[in-house]
This record gives sequence, structure tokens and C-alpha cells, in this order.
Amino acid sequence: MTALRFALLGTLILGASLSGQPAGQAPKTKALVGGTLVDGFAGPPIQNSVILIDGDRISAVGQVGTLAVPSGAEVISTEGMTVLPGLWDMHVHTMIVGHADYDHWDKAYASQFESVIMPAAAKQLLMSGVTSARDLGAPLEASINVRNRINEGKLTGATLYVSGPFIQHEPYPNTEAYRWGVKGPDDGRAKVRKIADAGVDVVKLIDQDQMTMEELRAVVDEAHKNGKPVVAHSHRPEEIRRGLMAGVDCFEHTGLATAPAYPDDIIAMIRERTAKMSLGPLYWTPTIEGLLNYEYLRDNPEALDDPAWHEGLPDAIVADIKKSLEHPDRLPYFQLTAARRPTLAHKFKQLRDAGVVQLIGTDSGIPMNFHTHSTWRELDAWVNVLGVDPITTIRAATYWPSVAMKMDSKVGTVSAGKYADIIAARGDALRYISLLQRVDLVMKHGVRYK
Ligand SMILES: [Zn+2]
Repeated sequence: MTALRFALLGTLILGASLSGQPAGQAPKTKALVGGTLVDGFAGPPIQNSVILIDGDRISAVGQVGTLAVPSGAEVISTEGMTVLPGLWDMHVHTMIVGHADYDHWDKAYASQFESVIMPAAAKQLLMSGVTSARDLGAPLEASINVRNRINEGKLTGATLYVSGPFIQHEPYPNTEAYRWGVKGPDDGRAKVRKIADAGVDVVKLIDQDQMTMEELRAVVDEAHKNGKPVVAHSHRPEEIRRGLMAGVDCFEHTGLATAPAYPDDIIAMIRERTAKMSLGPLYWTPTIEGLLNYEYLRDNPEALDDPAWHEGLPDAIVADIKKSLEHPDRLPYFQLTAARRPTLAHKFKQLRDAGVVQLIGTDSGIPMNFHTHSTWRELDAWVNVLGVDPITTIRAATYWPSVAMKMDSKVGTVSAGKYADIIAARGDALRYISLLQRVDLVMKHGVRYK
């Protein structure tokens, strides 16, 4: 708390000393004035809000009439808009951008992941209002380098929290660059130490039901020793059971293919875990929208023609992606989706009722799911299909992700002392959440990108 107050004081002094300088030079105070603010906390929205920004941080939040805008500040009107923290997407894949054939994609473009594909994905996310994203599964060096270049201001993109390679029993053929197999507990610890030393933010597990329990416990334990949360796929019942036994922090997807529900013993295990307050919340990223919207997109494919997803991609790659999506009704990736879709709402509710903290995440980058469209569709699915209230939904894309990544002292809410990661959309996004498909303002760390 002391450190935060000190930092806040520092930004206030910095802001005051610079506010008299001419525009276009050193960063001066910015003021977002007039809009309805959904700040990421649980209370009601703040009407006629005033947000003051000095450098990369929010210095004060209040209302017109009670919080004065300093003279010389750059005033940005948010009248008529909903203002909210920049969104987080807790499950993206920046090394893929919607192509339907993964084998072909890896063969043709692996050499361009770091230089072209991942930067394009990160930029598309940012321009869509996603200021932070958790990138779960990509080559180690490329993940670290792209994340760092964004943080250093050399690339324009969402702030990334990266896992580097999947940690699993055995890589699938030709995926060794981003899937690392584990042979025994010592090897598991060594691989986790290697990615932790390289600087990943999180450890991603998949196929943990094929590991021995000793290997799985070693991987999770080593991750925790290095201060890294463990995120695990939950496609099969045994992946969930073993993940819970080993102490996984966050599960991904609803999983279980076309099964209508989670078995009782799994729900009992989840309830047991969520009751243990000292362990913190159990997080779950259900990644609903890609499955939920598949049949709609298949039959109404106009959104696939939206040029927004071409941003940052060479024409030849765009053409290749388009060609792969020529027949949305024939994509092997989605062959079971029509049978899975009716099970999603019940599984989502089972998890909710069992006490997990659900997070917004999308699997963005999978076939037909462009980084420009996935995140708002997940919010829309929660509100309009799954019956979650809009404030809770927005908190699952702002406040809770920052807590899950232990970044809540720096980001996740629009409040004094936090990084100025702020978006705004014209209209009432609490009444019409799909307005977030077209944000009018995107600010990250005090820099306005839109
Ligand atoms: Zn995924």
C-alpha cells in the first residue's frame, strides 16, 4: 500500500510539473470527461465520470462537479459513452489467426510467428479493446520476445501474459517447437524451470491425464515454487480430476465433448476445492463463444469478410486464410460442435454453481475466430445466452483476470494508481453489451491508440 501511494504521489507531481508544457511534447494530463464509468469494481456505474491520467497511470477518478480538470489538461469527451477498464482475454493464441488447417499453418508460417503473426494478433486484440491477453501455447523465445517488444513500446499490441510452450506428456508430430513432452518428474521440473527462467508468466498444461501423477505434481509444484500459476486444459474428465489433485490454479474450456454434464464426482471435487478459501479462488475460463457461434457463422459468414482481421497480415496470408474458410460447413475442427453446443450452457452453470470464478477467454485464433471478434462475442454470449449480468461479465474480463494474474495492484480497474488501460464505446454497453464490438476509444498505459 505504501509503495502504491508513493507511486501515485510520484505521478501526481510528474503530472503537475509537465502540465504547463506545450502539446506534443512530454506527456501532460489527460482527462476523460462525461461518460458513464463501469470501473471494474462491484458497485453501480459512475455517471458523468472524470478520469485524470498522468503519464501511464490514472491519477484520480471522480465526477463532473466534484473532481476538477486541471488547466492545461487534454480533455477527451466521453459523453454518451460507456467507459470501462481495458478488456482482458484470458485465453488467446497469437500464433494462429483463424486459419482452418493447423498442420499447413505450422509448416507454412512457423518462421513468421515472431516477426509477423504474433505481432499482428496482438495489435488486432488491442485495437478491439483488449488491452491485456493471456497467450497460452507458442514457441518459448517468440512468446517472450513479442511480449517484451510490446512492453518496451517497440510493437503496438495488447499487454501479453505468456505461457510459452504447452507442457504435456508427448508433443504431437511436428509441434515440438511449442509442445514440450515430459519424461519423468525430474524432466518435468527441469522444463518448468527452463521456461520460468526465460520469464514466462504462467505454465500451461495439456493432456495431464497422460502424465504420471508424479510428473504432474512435479510440474505444478515447480511452477508454484517459481511463482507461476498453472493453467490446464480440461477436455477430458481425468484431466480435471488429476489437475484438481495436483493443485492447478485455472482450468480452460468446458470440455467433455458432447457429454451433457460434468459427472457428480468432479463437481464434488470442485466444490471441495472452492470451499478452501486459503487457497484463493479456483479460476475457470470456459471459452464458450467459438463453439456457441459456429453454426451461426457457418450459415451467416459475412463477419468472415470483415477486413478488420487483415490488420498486420500480408495479403498472401490473408488469401490463404480465406481459402481455408471457403466451406465453413466442412471444417473438421467443428465437426462435433453442433452436438456440443446444446451442452455448453448447462456445463457453464454447473461450474458457476460449484463456486469457481469464471473468466472471459476465447481460444481466439482458432478457425474462423479472429482476434478482432472473439472477445466481445464471449461477453455477448455470457450476457445474452448464458444469463450472466453485465457487470459480473465485465468484471470477468477486467477485475478478476488482474487478480488471477496477481496484477490487480497495477491494472484491471479504473481507479487511482492503476495503469491507464481504458476503453469506451458509444452507447450503453450495460444495456447492449454487443456495443463492445466497436469501441471508440482504446487507451493502454496512458497512450491513446483509437
Ligand atoms: Zn486454447
